[in-house]
Amino acid sequence: MSGFLHDVNVMVDRALGLLDLPPGLAEEIRGCHAVYHVRFAVEMRDEWKVIEGWRAVHSEWRLPAKGGLRYAPSVDEDEVEALAALMTYKCAVVDVPFGGSKGGLRIDPREFTEGELEQITRRFALELDQKGFLSPATNVPAPDMGTGEREMAWIANTYRRLHPEDVNAEACVTGKPVAMGGVHGRTEATGRGVQYGLQAFFSHTDDVVAAGLDRGLDGARVVVQGLGNVGFHATKFLSEEDGAIVVAVIERDGAVIDESGLDVAALRAHMDETGGVAGFPGATFVEDGAAVLEHPCDILLPAAMEGQITEDNAPRIQARLVAEAANGPVTAAADEILRARGITVIPDFYLNAGGVTVSYFEWVKNLAHMQFGRLEQRLTELRAESVLDLFARAGDPVPPEIAETLLQSESELNLVRSGLYDTMRTSYATIREVLRSRDDVDDLRTAAFVLALGKIARYYQEYA
Ligand code: GLU
Repeated sequence: MSGFLHDVNVMVDRALGLLDLPPGLAEEIRGCHAVYHVRFAVEMRDEWKVIEGWRAVHSEWRLPAKGGLRYAPSVDEDEVEALAALMTYKCAVVDVPFGGSKGGLRIDPREFTEGELEQITRRFALELDQKGFLSPATNVPAPDMGTGEREMAWIANTYRRLHPEDVNAEACVTGKPVAMGGVHGRTEATGRGVQYGLQAFFSHTDDVVAAGLDRGLDGARVVVQGLGNVGFHATKFLSEEDGAIVVAVIERDGAVIDESGLDVAALRAHMDETGGVAGFPGATFVEDGAAVLEHPCDILLPAAMEGQITEDNAPRIQARLVAEAANGPVTAAADEILRARGITVIPDFYLNAGGVTVSYFEWVKNLAHMQFGRLEQRLTELRAESVLDLFARAGDPVPPEIAETLLQSESELNLVRSGLYDTMRTSYATIREVLRSRDDVDDLRTAAFVLALGKIARYYQEYA
C-alpha cells in the first residue's frame, strides 16, 4: 500500500494506538463516510469535453462537512479522500464545528478560458447539489488549489438559483467575494494562520530551544516551496511583520535564492508578468527546484502540494523546523526520518487551519445575515473616547500607541484577525500541552492527532 490516503492513515493510526478506544470505533472515525464520483460532459470548442470529479465526505460528526474544491491534474479519489480526512482532523484540532469533506475536478484550469471554467464549475455545482453534496446545512465547499473567489461566486449563484426559498443560500459555500457575502480577510486567511501558528510556536521559548533553533522569528531564514495563495501571504507577512528572511523560493519552473532576503511581493509581480521565477533580478536561479528543499535554513515552509518531502530527500533536509503550510507535504516515511533526525514538524492540519477557521466566520456571518461588528462599533468607539477623555482630564494623556489600540475599530477585518489569532494561539497551546503531559507522545503531529481524535471519540462515546 502506498499513496496519500495511506500516509495520512499511517500517521492517524500512530495516535489511535495511544487512545484505547472500544473495538470498531477507531475504524468508524478514520474511514471515509461517502465519496461521490461524477463524470459529466460539457460542450466546448466543437466537442464534448468529459470532466471527471469527486466530492468525499470523510466525517459528519459535525455538520456541515467542510472543505475545499481543487482543480488540478493530480485530483483523484485517493487524493480527495486523504484531503477530506485531513479536514476532519483540522476542524477538530482548532475547534471549528464542522465535519471534513473535500472535492475536486481532474483538470488543469490553465487550459480553459474563463467562460469555459464558469460552464464547468456551474455544472459541477449542479451535480453536487443534485446528489446532496452541496448545502449550507450539510456540505459547504471553499477554495483550494486552482480555485478562488470567482469559482465560489459561480457556485453560490448556481445554488441560489436552484433554491430561491433557502434563506441561508449564501452559506452554501465560503471564500466568496465580499460583495457576495464573503468575509474580509478570507483570501489571505490560510497564510495569516501560518504566520500566527509560527508566532505561537516561537512564543514558547522551550519549544524553540527543543527544536535546536538559536533565534526567534526575527532573522529566521526561510525556504518556501510554492508562492501561491498560501505561500505568498505567509512569507509576505512573516518577512514584512516578523523580520523573517526569505532566502529561497521554489516554484514550478525552478527556484531563486538570495541569502540577503527575497522581496516576495516583487517576486510575485515578476511571476505574474513572466509566468515563473526565472530571471528575477538580483537572485540566483536554480533549475532543479526540488533540490532547494535541502537548502540550509531555519524554517522550511512547504506550501505547494502533498508528497514533497519523501524518504529520498528527508535525510538531507537541513532545516530545524518544517512548517507544513500545504496539506500533506511530508510523506509518512519522511515523517519517521525527520523525527529520528530531531527535526521539528508543525503539522499541516494545525498550521494551515486558518483558511477553514475564517470560512467558519464567513458561514456564521451568512447565517446571521449581518456584518461582524455592526452592532457594537459605535458603542466601542464611545467607550474608548471616554477613557481617553478621562485620562486627559486628569492631566495624564494616554501614550499614542495605547490610544491607537483603544481606538481600533471593530471592523470586520480586525475582528476576523482577532478570532484567527486567538484560534491559532490557543490551539497551539493545547497541542503542546498534550506533547508535554504524555510520555507516549514525542512529536507535535501525534500530539495534534491525539487531541483531534480524542475530541471526536468523546463525541461518539457520549452523544452518538
Ligand atoms: N481548502 C482549504 C483547506 O484545505 C480551506 C477549506 C475551507 O475553508 O473549507 O483547509
